[in-house]
This record gives sequence, C-alpha cells and structure tokens, in this order.
Amino acid sequence: MPVRATKRGAQRTPLNGDFDVLICGASFAGLAVARELRGAGARVLIVDRYEVGERQTSACAAPTEWLTNLGLGGSIRQTFGDLVVHTPSRDLRWRLPFTFSTFDYRTLCRLLHAQSDAAFETAKVDGRTAFTVHTDRGDLRAPLVVDALGWRRVLSNAEPGVQPPDARLSRGLEVHPHGAGTDLELWLDPAYVRAGYSWSFPAGDELRVGVGSFDPRDHVKEPTVRLAGDLEVPAVRYQGNWIPHQMRRPVEDGIFFAGDSAGHCLPTTAEGIRTALYFGIALGRELRAVLEGRSDRERALTRYAAFCTGHRRAFDWLLRVQSLVSRVNPTPLMTPALRLMSSPRFIEWSFGHYLRIAPPEFALAGGADAADPEPLAAAA
Ligand SMILES: Cc1cc2nc3c(=O)[nH]c(=O)nc-3n(C[C@H](O)[C@H](O)[C@H](O)COP(=O)(O)OP(=O)(O)OC[C@H]3O[C@@H](n4cnc5c(N)ncnc54)[C@H](O)[C@@H]3O)c2cc1C
Repeated sequence: MPVRATKRGAQRTPLNGDFDVLICGASFAGLAVARELRGAGARVLIVDRYEVGERQTSACAAPTEWLTNLGLGGSIRQTFGDLVVHTPSRDLRWRLPFTFSTFDYRTLCRLLHAQSDAAFETAKVDGRTAFTVHTDRGDLRAPLVVDALGWRRVLSNAEPGVQPPDARLSRGLEVHPHGAGTDLELWLDPAYVRAGYSWSFPAGDELRVGVGSFDPRDHVKEPTVRLAGDLEVPAVRYQGNWIPHQMRRPVEDGIFFAGDSAGHCLPTTAEGIRTALYFGIALGRELRAVLEGRSDRERALTRYAAFCTGHRRAFDWLLRVQSLVSRVNPTPLMTPALRLMSSPRFIEWSFGHYLRIAPPEFALAGGADAADPEPLAAAA
C-alpha cells in the first residue's frame, strides 16, 4: 500500500475557523472552483484528506484543448489523434476530430492549484451541520460551501442511495506498469467485461491499463489482471474508484456540489475530468459574483442549478446509450453497429457533439478575473 502524503500525528493540529468560501476536495472540480476565485480578496480555504495531487484515481486522459486552454499543457505526457477500438471480431482505428492527451495527475493538480490564491489544509471531511463542516481536525464554517469530494457526496445530508452496489455507479480499476505505446486503445470485448469497456492509455513511460464496468456488481480486478497479462505487462500500482454515472442534485440545502459528487462524469465514456473542470469553473464564476457583490448565495444556487440542469438532456442521452451498450455488447449486433459508427462522417459528427457538451473554450470565456454571471446563462 502506498503511503499518501498528508499531515500526520503532531502535525495534525486543530483546525477551526470562518471563511468566505470553503472548498472540500482538491482534485479537478475543487481546484477549478478555486482558480476562478483568484484575486477576489476573499478568505478561501480548500481542504482535502491528502496533499494536492497525491492520489490519482483516473487514467488521466482529457481533450488536449481543455488542458492547454487552462494553461495545464506542462502536465501533458502524450497526445493522440486516433482511437483504436478492439472488438472480438476486428480492430478499428478512428481518426478523431480533436486530440486527447494523457497527463501527469500530480503536475496537473499542482499547476491548477498554483492558479488560485486559496489556502490549503489537509483534513478529512466527516460531514456537516448547516454551514459548519466537520473535519477530523475541527469545525470549519463558511456561507459558501462546495462539495467537490467525489462520488461519496460526503456533504449531502439528504440524498440516500449513493452507496454501491445499489447506487447509480460504475466501477473502474487500472494498473500502471512501466511501458510505452503509441495508441489510445479501447476494448469493447465481453471477454473482459460484460457491460463496460477496457483500455490501455500510454502516458510517456507508463501504461494505464484498466477495466470499467457500468454494473457495480461486476468485479473488475480479475479482468484487469488478465488484460495486463494479455498485453504482457505486470499488474502493478493499482488504483480504482467508483464513478457516478447519473447526474445528482447540483445544490442541496444551500451547499454546492461539483464533479463526481454531482454526478458530472459523462455516462457511456466515463469521462469525468473535463466535466469536473467545466462545472467547477461554472460554479467558481457564480461564487466570484457573490464575493464581488454582484450576486448573492440564493441567486448563485439557482443559477448554478439551472446551468447544470441545462446539460441534463445530453447526460440522459448518454445514459440511454450506456444502457443500450450494456445490453448489446455481448450480442452479434455490436459488430455491424460499430462498423456504421466507424464512418469518418459519423465520427466527426458524434465526437463533435460530444465535445460540445463541455466545450474547451469555456475555460477561456470570461477568464478568472472577469467572471460575469450573464455569459454563464448564455452558455447553458
Ligand atoms: C479507473 C478510472 C479511470 C478513469 N479515467 C478517466 C480518464 O482517463 N479521463 C476522464 O476524463 N475521466 C476518467 N475517470 C473519471 C474521473 O476520474 C472522475 O470523474 C474525476 O476524477 C472526478 O473529479 P472530481 O474532482 O469530481 O473528484 P475526484 O477526482 O474523485 O476528487 C475528489 C477529491 O476529494 C478528496 N476526498 C474524498 N473524500 C474526502 C474526505 N472525506 N475528506 C477530505 N477529502 C476527501 C479526494 O482525496 C480527492 O482529492 C476515471 C475513473 C476511474 C475510476
């Protein structure tokens, strides 16, 4: 088991206080919120149970333009213009209308964190009472509280049923052996997973080889080890997580939720980094308007909820595709369906629409110092 960087023993001093904004979770969503608050002159605190960038839970592939637009190009390890799809009967190479890049999680988080001027502390968040957040180091209070804590949605006091295996969750597990590759590869092969897909993402000198199942009851360890064996790489350095695949309430009881805690990972593809950044930025701009006196909490809650709900159709549509894929996968229908999907025009059209769900230029719009609530509504 790796030892994660966090404050231990005597370093774990009491932590109490009042802040203007409290951001719980220092991964993609939480750090994106924080960057939008830079220079607002507010007391912003980010808390996470580990140091920034300490615990990667993802294969870390995202559309390149999102990374470069956010000034995170320095974290990129490898860039891909094609997606290679393996099926039981044939291999397909899809030329994508935009590139994906794999990146180094620690570097990306640190670069993103450096774009904010928020204070950071390691603390485990246990729950909350109204606007007081209870941590293992003490109680923290703020009128603006963000849950960017991932799938557990720790700050929800109301939403039942977010625990596996009954919740709307997918599961993913991967290994990170040393190795090299030239292609972003997917396996749509029921031999590895009945409802889901498997992958090998090269990232410089390592491969990220894993299996994701849309059905939380299906185990992914054995097929992950088997896929690594088939690729002749050792199954070492495991990491995995649950992934909500249905949108959840973006606001609840005065609290804001972003990223996986709000079910912002896209169904079918389980792409959740871009959307965690996207909704995190949107939320950050709303909170900035409050801090600058252009809005208030109630208005921010309403507007952020509307922004998220405005994307519901796309998310629901992808969830329907995911359900269909889960049923179709092992049947002979898969091969003809994939052949149809392999036409360059279809790829251009479908991936183009897919990117528009959370377009990369959103990272540029307004900029961190020019947050104006009105363009936010227009974008939704
Ligand atoms: C195996 C796997 C591979 C994936 N690959 C990709 C991929 O290649 N591309 C992609 O776009 N998406 C991928 N995803 C999905 C993506 O990882 C998530 O959607 C994304 O990480 C969500 O970001 P987030 O900031 O909302 O939450 P997270 O990244 O889960 O971050 C939550 C943060 O909260 C902290 N935290 C949690 N609980 C507490 C607590 N109680 N107290 C204090 N801190 C706490 C954690 O330490 C963490 O820093 C993958 C998922 C899995 C499981």
